[in-house]
Amino acid sequence: MLVLGLETTCDETSAAVVRRHEDGRGEILSNVVLSQVSAHAEYGGVVPEIAARAHVEALDGIVAQAMAEARIGFSHLNAVAAAAGPGLIGGVIVGLTTAKAIALAAGKPLVAVNHLEAHALSPRLVGKLGFPYCLLLVSGGHTQIVAVLDVDRFERLGTTIDDAVGEAFDKVGKMLSLPYPGGPRVEAAASRGNPRRFAFPRPMLGRHEPDFSLSGLKTAVRLAAEAIAPLSETDVADLCASFQAAVVEVIEDRLRMGLRLFGSRFGKPKGLVIAGGVGANKAIRAALDRIAAENALRLLMPPASLCTDNGAIIAWAGAERLALGMTDDLDCPPRARWPLGLPLKIEATEP
Ligand code: ATP
Ligand code: MG
Ligand code: FE
Repeated sequence: MLVLGLETTCDETSAAVVRRHEDGRGEILSNVVLSQVSAHAEYGGVVPEIAARAHVEALDGIVAQAMAEARIGFSHLNAVAAAAGPGLIGGVIVGLTTAKAIALAAGKPLVAVNHLEAHALSPRLVGKLGFPYCLLLVSGGHTQIVAVLDVDRFERLGTTIDDAVGEAFDKVGKMLSLPYPGGPRVEAAASRGNPRRFAFPRPMLGRHEPDFSLSGLKTAVRLAAEAIAPLSETDVADLCASFQAAVVEVIEDRLRMGLRLFGSRFGKPKGLVIAGGVGANKAIRAALDRIAAENALRLLMPPASLCTDNGAIIAWAGAERLALGMTDDLDCPPRARWPLGLPLKIEATEP
């Protein structure tokens, strides 16, 4: 089956065509991603109104390009999928409304996809992986350890009580005057620095519940930077390396606790997977390698291009749902907040 997927929840405008083969294998026919990073760079973060307008301007052309690269017409599609949330509501409305219009005009079913569930299901697009599996979702807006039990069944085992990991990277980048977004810049600087120069805190280490807290670590980096300012290039590299080392140690510890909880509730997972933009970080990927080896778990890490926001993971989640007969009405609502595992139409109460 062929599914067109639209992603507009944050600052990437993306459309993709994905095929789901009879045997469950996924194939990406096109995945066009337009990043708005440069439009937001001067503000040091995503500006919702600018993002929504940029999605409006770009999406039609991106869809046309994705269809052309896949060499198909709308009549060949089996469904049109869009991320219906969670995210910046202006952008979500643009993507979902466009998908509804295409679905209506082409006479195809609509699949409203939860953006977080799309991240969670992304490893099944690139490799064979059965349920249940354990997911570390680490992005700019989210940090969660999730038990993925089925296409539409998810249990959140742990989450951050303050900043997301990507958000902490971005804020550290900003306080060290690195260009936006900070994540990749902090990683690059860290590779040249001394991870032992600053003894930053490792919040939540050893706690039983596999939750995260990163704001104290972020503050510690700021205080250390202020204490030695003006910063040399070496100072910045050492701050980044010491920060990243602390994050890696926290993630390792939290994930160990998460896996223990997973085991006690759902048995041995079929695999360990990472998703979300921070999944591009090599030190964090190496940490997952160690944990997978330690627990004799199969490790699946989608390529960095599928870890950050993109239409292919939305199309894939749409195809997975369509294969189970799950489609949505044309009056389904866009959602700014939508915890994974909950149906679209039930009022969400938690972030
Ligand atoms: P969400 O998916 O939660 O709505 P988002 O759109 O910000 O949020 P993604 O696009 O998946 O998330 O990821 C972007 C985040 O990943 C940013 O915070 C960015 O700094 C971070 N990031 C990207 N590459 C790296 C890296 N190499 N190391 C650390 N962080 C990174
Ligand atoms: Mg993004
Ligand atoms: Fe995302």
